[in-house]
Amino acid sequence: MASRRLLDIYDHDRTFTAMRYVYPVVSRRAGGVSVGINLNTNNACNWHCVYCQVPGLVRGKAPPVDVHVLGAELHGFLKDALQGDFMVRHVPADARRISDIALSGNGEPSSAAEFAEVIDLAAASLQQYGLAQSALVRVITNGSLVDQPQARAGFERLGVCRGEAWFKLDGGRRSDIQQVNGVDLDPQAIARRLALCASLCSTWVQTCALRFDGLSLLQDGLDDYLRILDAAGMERLRGVLLYGPARKSMQPEASRVSCLADDELQAIAERLREKGLTVHVSP
Ligand code: SF4
Repeated sequence: MASRRLLDIYDHDRTFTAMRYVYPVVSRRAGGVSVGINLNTNNACNWHCVYCQVPGLVRGKAPPVDVHVLGAELHGFLKDALQGDFMVRHVPADARRISDIALSGNGEPSSAAEFAEVIDLAAASLQQYGLAQSALVRVITNGSLVDQPQARAGFERLGVCRGEAWFKLDGGRRSDIQQVNGVDLDPQAIARRLALCASLCSTWVQTCALRFDGLSLLQDGLDDYLRILDAAGMERLRGVLLYGPARKSMQPEASRVSCLADDELQAIAERLREKGLTVHVSP
């Protein structure tokens, strides 16, 4: 780590520290340094979102994870961040805190066979470094595998360690989900998986609101979106994290993606709040 480069909210370069799995970022949504863990080192995801920032994204699942190497990287980084000079050298003064260990990489983290083991490792690391009260384990997920045994076990472990899931839902109509996320999913099945996730661990819905080919699909299909949340049980959800595509898409569809205006995002947030949901907006 010879560089004195500062991390900022647009700097999610996973090669920054040249580790295989661990990458620190300053997260606007997490409010500090988020210790990212990328299990999808092969850039493989079972979805293909039009706004995805993963270069060279391919369809697939995470490769076998070397949990020993991951553990060594995590301990090495936390030691440097808490006892070394990493924060002073690389992080703006107002963000020098560890906010979370986030499984959020170049694909769906719960597709890794070692998913549950990694959750336990992250939780144990927070304990070991005295961060269990001030930081938590987060899983940024598309939620599509929650009902499969191996992924479910990980979300159960996440609940045990009081971590939280950010469950992706970018639209309510089947056709919108197909267009934005590149998957053909039954909205009712999504609602069932969201309900299951929320029963296993604290769950926020994360929603990227964008314009695709000039159309604001989420706005147009907001009633259907709300029907999914309703079917999942809104009262079980922590709330909705509503955001726009702040960083440039690395997918071939990039030129077809654009941001909503601030007042459009706020109008969506208001509709959700009317239903009693907590909503955080990050344009
Ligand atoms: S779910 Fe995440 S990693 Fe997968 S394609 Fe969508 S944005 Fe990219």
